Amino acid sequence: MIIMNRLLPTKVSCPCCGWEGRVFADYIEIGYQVGNAECPRCNSHPRHRMLFHWLKSALASGVFQKKGIALVFAPEKCLLSLWMGIPGLKVVRVDREAARDVDLLMDIQHLPLASDCIDFIWCHHVLEHVPYDKAAIRELHRVLRPRTGELMVSVPMFPRPVTREYGFADPTESGHWRAYGDDFVDRLAEARFHVKQMAFSLTKAERDSYGIGEEQVFLCTKASNDQGPGV
Ligand SMILES: [Zn+2]
Repeated sequence: MIIMNRLLPTKVSCPCCGWEGRVFADYIEIGYQVGNAECPRCNSHPRHRMLFHWLKSALASGVFQKKGIALVFAPEKCLLSLWMGIPGLKVVRVDREAARDVDLLMDIQHLPLASDCIDFIWCHHVLEHVPYDKAAIRELHRVLRPRTGELMVSVPMFPRPVTREYGFADPTESGHWRAYGDDFVDRLAEARFHVKQMAFSLTKAERDSYGIGEEQVFLCTKASNDQGPGV
């Protein structure tokens, strides 16, 4: 990979850090390997590059003018500089382990926060890591501010109609508790979220150049006076 990147013409580039080369590095886990995935300079993965591109474009175009409090779960290092540049948002970085540089240690399944007080929630590739994702989704719904609050959420999804639950954190799949199918959207809707799939304005050439595949991301909102199920 190193020799290819030195000798062959540039084909891909990382929007997060500016690295350019022939191909991204393979991402190697215990049970699987993904080719053309990881930026050798900043370790970004395809979803990070897509979200970086979205966040940067949204900031540049002025669309992203949120004010208030944002919860950023499992904060991605390569996006932090963008987050910190949003003047109207108090960005609270959250994780359940202290390994990342975070502001609060919290369990997404039991958020120690008042209801209806969070203006923006960023939650990507987190729900597959917790045993009770439905409890976590209910908590996200509970704390989100009605009407104006937004949750942007994604999980690794597979081409199957129904989510497959493992019943344990599978060490050969990065500790995932389940493999989500198309019914992920139903899980969001069950918690009374209004769900919309996001459209990303990336051309095929941009996707190829950034090494981005097809990742589904959902934008969820909550109606006013909606306390959610079971409350
Ligand atoms: Zn990079």
